[in-house]
Amino acid sequence: MKVLILGSGGREHAIGWAFNKAGHSVSFYPGNAGTKLVGENIPSIEGDVIDRFDLVIPGSEDFLVKGIADGKKNVFGPSSDGAKLEGSKCFAKLFMEKYNIPTAKFIIARNSIELEDALKYFKPPYVIKADGLAQGKGVIIANDYEEAFESGSKLIEGKLIENVSGPVVVDEFLNGWELSAIAIVNGRNFALLPFTRDYKRVYTGNKGPNTGGMGSYGPIMIDKELKRKIEDIFELTLFGIEKEGVDYRGFLYIGLMIVDNKPYVLEYNVRLGDPETEVIVAMEPERFVENVLKAFNNEPFGEYKPENFAVDIVIASRGYPENPEKGQTIDIDGGFFFYAGVKEKEGKLLVSGGRVLHSMGIAKELEIARRKAYENIKNVKFEGMFYREDIAQI
Ligand code: ATP
Repeated sequence: MKVLILGSGGREHAIGWAFNKAGHSVSFYPGNAGTKLVGENIPSIEGDVIDRFDLVIPGSEDFLVKGIADGKKNVFGPSSDGAKLEGSKCFAKLFMEKYNIPTAKFIIARNSIELEDALKYFKPPYVIKADGLAQGKGVIIANDYEEAFESGSKLIEGKLIENVSGPVVVDEFLNGWELSAIAIVNGRNFALLPFTRDYKRVYTGNKGPNTGGMGSYGPIMIDKELKRKIEDIFELTLFGIEKEGVDYRGFLYIGLMIVDNKPYVLEYNVRLGDPETEVIVAMEPERFVENVLKAFNNEPFGEYKPENFAVDIVIASRGYPENPEKGQTIDIDGGFFFYAGVKEKEGKLLVSGGRVLHSMGIAKELEIARRKAYENIKNVKFEGMFYREDIAQI
């Protein structure tokens, strides 16, 4: 099968690696220096390029929100109508309210007067979310009212984050633990992928600012009752999606906050997560590909029980997430890595982004997988590299 994967991160490299392993011909757009190891990078998707592939998997949400799957049977992802679940937080919250999907209480505010009223309704800490895509920077959590009002007003006016303005969601603060649940979906049918945990803070000990993710591991075991409640959320969501007249095929990622063993939806993503994908794919590549292909071909598909643990440690460049150094030469000598912020120039591998490499460890036991992932880091060296020391440990 001719498969095209859209995006340029470790997630895309991981998906392509698995499809290549399963004997498919893999292309990437735009890809990176690492994706070339398992396929070819193509320079453009203009015109009818997409139509020349049997299967297209969009890695990042922008492609879907912009409508890459609209009217295309070969794209494994929702149409732009379905992608609104991720592209607009207001739409997503109103959808959850309409279909009785558990989420934090909320008020939508369109201007500073409405924001003031909304904040008065809640107690600190205050949670304010930008409506549109904001690359993970669109959520403000403030402990005092003044700070919340000031940052929230700036967010509405477009003065807090470049190219982000308009209505905000003011959410009740939920105090619990977070879990990401991702499923392969075809209409009302879904199969949960193994649960994983990711580490958002940049430094060891959960210190420093939030990032795109500094590592992950899985599978995470949860009790039957919680799992059933999560399945109920998927069922209600897919019921709602169908009622709204959307044909949803692809991945659905639900970010959950678990409070007293009850899951609440924080957000929907209409694609796989990064760095969750790297571990999901690495722990059972054949089963992953098999299930995606079954769902894509409208054949019965189901959940599978992974036989391995996988650990992903992100190797980042000094200054990440604010201002990562770029351009350093990377010395890499074997090992098991998914490539992210890397490019090739004159035969050398150079740093081109904040998250540079994902160091992978796979084993039947978590502790061994973790050790392998840390040992594997010894195969790589570049100026200013750093990583968290506590992945899969805390
Ligand atoms: P991401 O970049 O992770 O996809 P996002 O910008 O789409 O995030 P959310 O996932 O809604 O936004 O929120 C980001 C983080 O903010 C959550 O992972 C959670 O830690 C925190 N958060 C969001 N909503 C709440 C809430 N109601 N109560 C407590 N914490 C929250």
